Amino acid sequence: MEKNQVRTRFAPSPTGYLHIGGLRTALYSYLYAKKTGGKFILRIEDTDQNRLVADSIDNILKTMKEAGLFYDEGPDVGGDYGPYIQSQRKNEYLKYAKILIEKGGAYYCFCSKERLENLPDANGARRYDKHCLSLSKEEVQKRIESGEPYVIRQNMPTEGISSYTDAVFGEISVKNEELEDNILIKSDGMPTYNFANVIDDHLMGINVVMRGTEYLTSTPKYNLLYDAFEWERPLYIHMPPIMRDKEHKLSKRDGAASYEDLIEKGYIKEAIINYIALLGWSPKNDKEKMSFEEMQQLFSIEGINRSPAIFDEIKLKWLNGLYIKEMDADKFLQLATPYLDKSKAAGKYDYTKLAKLIQGRVEALTEIADKVNFLEEFDNYDINLFENAKQKSSIDSAKKYLPKIISALTDLKQWDNTALYTVLTSLAANEGVKNSSILWTTRVAISGKESTPGGATELADLLGKEKALKRLNFSLNLLGKE
Ligand code: GLU
Repeated sequence: MEKNQVRTRFAPSPTGYLHIGGLRTALYSYLYAKKTGGKFILRIEDTDQNRLVADSIDNILKTMKEAGLFYDEGPDVGGDYGPYIQSQRKNEYLKYAKILIEKGGAYYCFCSKERLENLPDANGARRYDKHCLSLSKEEVQKRIESGEPYVIRQNMPTEGISSYTDAVFGEISVKNEELEDNILIKSDGMPTYNFANVIDDHLMGINVVMRGTEYLTSTPKYNLLYDAFEWERPLYIHMPPIMRDKEHKLSKRDGAASYEDLIEKGYIKEAIINYIALLGWSPKNDKEKMSFEEMQQLFSIEGINRSPAIFDEIKLKWLNGLYIKEMDADKFLQLATPYLDKSKAAGKYDYTKLAKLIQGRVEALTEIADKVNFLEEFDNYDINLFENAKQKSSIDSAKKYLPKIISALTDLKQWDNTALYTVLTSLAANEGVKNSSILWTTRVAISGKESTPGGATELADLLGKEKALKRLNFSLNLLGKE
């Protein structure tokens, strides 16, 4: 390990999909490591065996890579400080717990469930009373040898104050008398988060810990562990909570969005990452749309806010729309194809032309199907759509010009956007009317819709001569019935 090199980590528990909060921790830790020329480490915290969800680890690894958050060390990429999955490090924790006991920072506890349940209730909390702290070494030895189940608890000081300085929230202090003697090693031999996070952060050389504010006030307990081992404390950077609205935290329970959910909703990964970066951080110049590279340059701890961030899907959508509009046509075509495959266009129309028509008109990929619904056959529509004063079109003008439009187009040999435009605008010139008058009539007659992505000639080009003429004739008929 290079001296003074920043080492950050993302330490998810594999309890399901990667949610927004987790993704933000991962992103900020990644950005900070990259910005400082440091390393970013992924560690899986699976010591709470009851909360494990099958396939979560694979899902986390996959999502991290998909989102572009490549870790320098981790379960599947290895590194000098592995294993990177806590359940595979069980012996390590017990070893350090025993060292801590020798140092007086922890002790064995054999108290039964019944005894714990009957501890005095102080304002709704039953605090452990250090009952087993007074057991002699010999007695402890005897009880362990006889196979009695035990846990190992942290021996908290009972007076004084513990403080540290968080890089975002400043000085945090707690009275030691408020700290309970937490369990460090459970009766199944597994460590709790309270212990494992410290041991692993130290053994993995993590010197910058970034995580949510839910850990802000328990960090003094972790610092007492660092101090007892005489290890250097890391720098702490706690991030503000992410809220659903002003009052409610975005929680897994109310369906907090995961990376997969957002992808499913038609957001693209660059926009998701960009938006998540803004949840609790802003660059000095207040720029909102930033490439991943720019974020790495602009990221700074000073830009992290203390106030809660509100997850605003409307803003995400807006940003997503910008990304879509500004991406190159080939990339959009590639992203749009699976959506076109499930739309009215499926296999029947030229995707390149369609993609070009809709690229600037969708904010989420899921809107694509709806945008191309003008391709769907229609058997009726409101002919008042021809009435449009601004476009110099009316039902009467449509009745007059539609037969001429049909005849001009029937004669057209080369069926493409340019040729169609030339024919229709020459017709307008011959008739002495504005182009819009002919083009609006054609567009409505060909689509039966008030608005379509693309104008008359683009739609006609896309549909092809046969279909376009069939629709125009149908509309002529419809107008005739009036
Ligand atoms: N495993 C913890 C969680 O998922 C990690 C907290 C931390 O970053 O220390 O909340």
